[in-house]
Amino acid sequence: MKLNERGLLVVISGPSGVGKGTVRRALFQMPNHDLVYSVSMTTRPPRNNEVDGVDYFFVDKQTFLNRIRENKFLEWAEFVGHYYGTPRDKVDEQLDRGKEVVLEIEVEGALQVRKQMKDAVFVFLVPPGKKALYERLKNRGTEHLSTIEKRMKKAEGEFMLAHKYDYIVVNDEVNNAADRIMAIIRAEHAKTERTIHNYLKMIGE
Ligand code: 5GP
Repeated sequence: MKLNERGLLVVISGPSGVGKGTVRRALFQMPNHDLVYSVSMTTRPPRNNEVDGVDYFFVDKQTFLNRIRENKFLEWAEFVGHYYGTPRDKVDEQLDRGKEVVLEIEVEGALQVRKQMKDAVFVFLVPPGKKALYERLKNRGTEHLSTIEKRMKKAEGEFMLAHKYDYIVVNDEVNNAADRIMAIIRAEHAKTERTIHNYLKMIGE
């Protein structure tokens, strides 16, 4: 039985290359969940295996800039030469329907969400060491070496923002990391401040 009506916004963030996408996919493959993924919009060209509307909404720069002007993003950021943003209307709609909405975004955007959505849950996914991060970016094989260097440099600054998050999860192994995030989501659900209102209503019946 659910004691909270509005869904929970879960923000998974962390340095580029930490494996946010892989962990998020593992999270969604777990049984018995009510999670909805918020598909972001980006000006980055699709990688080989990426599908428009599933991995991202791929748009040109002008379309993205128009959306910014129209205030259509909950947050957006420029990341290593491309724009990325979370469409605001879908998130609100799903939360109103009581769904758990998962954002998988870089740190600048996560901090923007933090300012606007006070009751969202913020998870900082970290690699089990800097070397592991470099290896992961290199092995992904989707970027040129210069892009990897740029992303690595950016990650150095991002590491320092961990204290702004509610939870730190080490991505030592994908399924373990996904398990930990699911445990966080379930625990957050039962938090007194999220449930007390409806609980009191329930026992008052
Ligand atoms: P990639 O190009 O590797 O798919 O993503 C680059 C970075 O952008 C990753 O850290 C990813 O989590 C982040 N990202 C993806 N979607 C969004 C979004 O909507 N907003 C923000 N701020 N970052 C995003």
